[in-house]
Amino acid sequence: MTHPTTLVLARYADGGRGLDDAALWSVEVHLDACAQCRAHLAGNVTPATTDLLDRVAVSLDQAVRTSPLPARRRTRTVATVHRRRLARTLFPWLAVTLAVLGCGVLLDSAEPSLPSLVLLLAPVAPLPGVAVAWSRRTDPVWELIATTPAAGLAMVLWRTLAVLVVVLPALLVAGATTGTSLALVLLPCLAFTAATLALGAFIGVRRAAIGLGAAWSGAVLLPSVAATSLSPVLQPGSNAVWAVTTVALAAVTLFAATHFRRLPSGH
Ligand SMILES: [Zn+2]
Repeated sequence: MTHPTTLVLARYADGGRGLDDAALWSVEVHLDACAQCRAHLAGNVTPATTDLLDRVAVSLDQAVRTSPLPARRRTRTVATVHRRRLARTLFPWLAVTLAVLGCGVLLDSAEPSLPSLVLLLAPVAPLPGVAVAWSRRTDPVWELIATTPAAGLAMVLWRTLAVLVVVLPALLVAGATTGTSLALVLLPCLAFTAATLALGAFIGVRRAAIGLGAAWSGAVLLPSVAATSLSPVLQPGSNAVWAVTTVALAAVTLFAATHFRRLPSGH
């Protein structure tokens, strides 16, 4: 290790007079690592610096003795606050979803001649929750997500999981109560959730959820109810197609992960 000369240290102690920026910087880096030179420097300081250091020490000592003890803070983390806000935002939507599914179960029992509403509602049941869980307008941590690499997809998946944890058991109960095929209740639900995320990576999750919900309602739900016969896409033979579609859409979502950080504002 090459130590700075006594002259350089003396100049440094005198406020760096006569030393250029590079020299000052290298002295500082060296002092950081060398106790010997720090001791040398202490012996080289000017009376003005010693006086200044003494005054700072006295005022610090006084401030520490006279200031009140630090108050104990409540240990609520940002994550806890965020989870609570998300739960508050999601709750009304999930409640509405469960109420609509409940009505579907009642209608299925009351009017067995109608196509199963539980089957028809299952694909779109998680969409309102997913859309709300991923909206910048209701998102208190949007800036955090936008500046964290790869956080977008992880956040979307966690929020989607929060919605599915409520919606899937409700669908299972509704399916079991009405005696409908559980695979035909769950697979389309998962396929539409994956489709919302895959499409959402490009146009925004909220917009994707609204679009897919409207498309399903217009192409399958309403025509089935109007014709009082279940659409062919929900017949027992379509299980395999739904399963393959779900896996393919989930793969698209993973590949499109980086798009979640570049979504247009408000979606
Ligand atoms: Zn040294």
